[in-house]
Amino acid sequence: MAIRQLPVVGGPTEAPVRQRKIAIEEHFVDPQQVRPNFGDSFGGEFAQDGSSYAGFNPEFAEVVEARMRDLREGRIEEMDAAGIDVAILSHTIGGVEGIADPAAAVSAARRVNTFLAEEVAGSGGRFEGLASMPLQDPDEATRELKRAITELGLRGVMVNGYSNLGDDKVYLDDERFEPFWTTLEELQVPLYLHPRLPARAVQDAIYHGHPELVGAAWGFAPETATHVLRMVYGGVFDRHPGANLIIGHLGETLPFFAGRIQRAFEYNPYSRRTRKRLQDYLSDNIWLTTSGNFNDQALITALLTVGADHIMFASDYPYDMATDAARWIEAAPISENDRRKICYGNAAALFGLAGK
Ligand code: ZN
Repeated sequence: MAIRQLPVVGGPTEAPVRQRKIAIEEHFVDPQQVRPNFGDSFGGEFAQDGSSYAGFNPEFAEVVEARMRDLREGRIEEMDAAGIDVAILSHTIGGVEGIADPAAAVSAARRVNTFLAEEVAGSGGRFEGLASMPLQDPDEATRELKRAITELGLRGVMVNGYSNLGDDKVYLDDERFEPFWTTLEELQVPLYLHPRLPARAVQDAIYHGHPELVGAAWGFAPETATHVLRMVYGGVFDRHPGANLIIGHLGETLPFFAGRIQRAFEYNPYSRRTRKRLQDYLSDNIWLTTSGNFNDQALITALLTVGADHIMFASDYPYDMATDAARWIEAAPISENDRRKICYGNAAALFGLAGK
């Protein structure tokens, strides 16, 4: 006998509305930047073997580069397909951070930020922007921060890892950046810390023979996580409790390791202490995005560590497909309330975009 099916007796009268999204790690490149072999003439560092950028094969890199330079039809079409209302654009790695000469970094940052503001203004509300910062000159960086936010209307800043200063690598816990952090706090705009290839000495010490691991596959995560830990344990958020930091890729491994890191830190013999635990700074001062890490297990770990109020949607365009990011988050095993916060609500609140 055939299975007797229950009749369909009714359901919602309206189909579910597609989840609105703000995507916040979406990259462009300065159109004046020529990047032979997808390397960069902006002063960044090639991957160890010098033949590819951040471990990408040439076919992949060529398409990424074309997508990167498209600030019109193709990008908007992909945003529409992914249900992204607003993309917050930022300069990709190979940015001003790699310019060793402070004066050159200052003029490059001003030029790139002005270009970005023009693109935002001409986008009909589809783009917002994160400014590039010439941290090689902390006073000028603070000045450019004020100009970018108050005059150009950008929504925060993106910093691609450490900044070159001559032969030095300068990280954001450096005391020279105290006025910069104070200004970020006063302006109430976030700083997005994006990965950068580890310094050449690090590459030579631990990645020799394995250039495929230097970039997005692995090297980005420990480089960026270490930078965050320098800030946390260097007391940046104790001195600037109103500062907001964003990190991508669902936290650059930190949600997974937070408990272990904190426990080991507490018996350090260097008299180094902070007011709160790493987990608390992650919940209070640090936001995570989904960029380039469309993975349920990582998302659940992040949710259990920082909660749904501190996770935001991002695709990492052009390195990833915005449509893949959207399909994943729309089906992820989380509550609809959390999904709404992650896709739209948290970014709208943090960037002052409510109603956009
Ligand atoms: Zn990125």
